[in-house]
Amino acid sequence: MKPAAFSYHAPKTVDEALALLAEFAPDDGRVLAGGQSLVPTMAFRLARPHHLIDINGIAALNRLGVENGKLVIGAGVRHQAFRRPVADGPLGTLLSAVMRHIAHYPIRTRGTFCGSIAHADPASEWCLVAATLGAEMVARSARANRVIAAKDYFLGIMATALEPDELLAEVRLPLLPAGTCTGFYEFNRRAGDFAMGMALVTFEIAGGVMAAPRVGVGGAETHPRRIAAAEALLVGRPPGLEAFKGAGAAAAAAIDPLTDAQTNAEYRRDLVATVTRRALEQAADARL
Ligand SMILES: Cc1cc2nc3c(=O)[nH]c(=O)nc-3n(C[C@H](O)[C@H](O)[C@H](O)COP(=O)(O)OP(=O)(O)OC[C@H]3O[C@@H](n4cnc5c(N)ncnc54)[C@H](O)[C@@H]3O)c2cc1C
Repeated sequence: MKPAAFSYHAPKTVDEALALLAEFAPDDGRVLAGGQSLVPTMAFRLARPHHLIDINGIAALNRLGVENGKLVIGAGVRHQAFRRPVADGPLGTLLSAVMRHIAHYPIRTRGTFCGSIAHADPASEWCLVAATLGAEMVARSARANRVIAAKDYFLGIMATALEPDELLAEVRLPLLPAGTCTGFYEFNRRAGDFAMGMALVTFEIAGGVMAAPRVGVGGAETHPRRIAAAEALLVGRPPGLEAFKGAGAAAAAAIDPLTDAQTNAEYRRDLVATVTRRALEQAADARL
């Protein structure tokens, strides 16, 4: 099938893009970033936007660098930009490892980090990163600019706090302190498929025990999130299988898993215990 007819706009500045969004968002005007999610849904006529506002020609959106202790990722930055660490320390290495799980090479050369965050597929790796590490989403519109914390941003399956006339101009990720242990584990049936379940974890080691743990789960519920019950079981304990199994079981018990065409809720709950434990083991192993 071919997409339904639409008008195409190619702004060269952020202000032009915001003016176009203000004018056309009420008439189903949408941002076109990498097009790797939007264009297929248009081809199947699941989406029929009347206007596409193509942000690929806006050079100011290609920012990628560290400012004030945060990695700033502009709306033009592609998945593939993370193939090598883009920041010193554990964050750059973690992003590089996670990126390899997203789709396939041609998709990674077009799709954008911010496009994934705007699209908010429950199984998006970048959404799990944003939710677990406490990202800030910078939303701009002709009305105002605002910063949305990750905990207030993800609302459900492909549902976010972004308004239709808002451009997700950049995402800011806090740098991880030197020595932070990180792990990411994803399960799918074929390489490049969307995750059926995945976990991202970080913790520090102080005096031989775990401190400041973060346990995030994605691909299992309507949106990725941190699991406080799992984190509580790690604080103050030495890293090891017993603690990791307990955290995995707590994560599995805490979630409200999805049933979809890939698998059912019971399987996903079981899977979350495993991916959480394996992500924690990976974090501990990387330290050795
Ligand atoms: C075969 C295949 C496999 C895939 N596998 C994975 C996978 O394993 N993991 C994964 O995470 N993704 C996967 N994807 C999706 C891919 O990562 C997309 O690149 C991503 O979801 C969206 O980014 P995009 O830049 O292509 O956005 P687009 O497709 O251009 O846009 C997606 C949506 O977000 C909106 N949008 C985009 N950018 C902005 C912005 N800056 N501000 C406001 N709204 C915006 C658009 O209006 C649209 O509604 C896969 C895609 C395909 C085709």
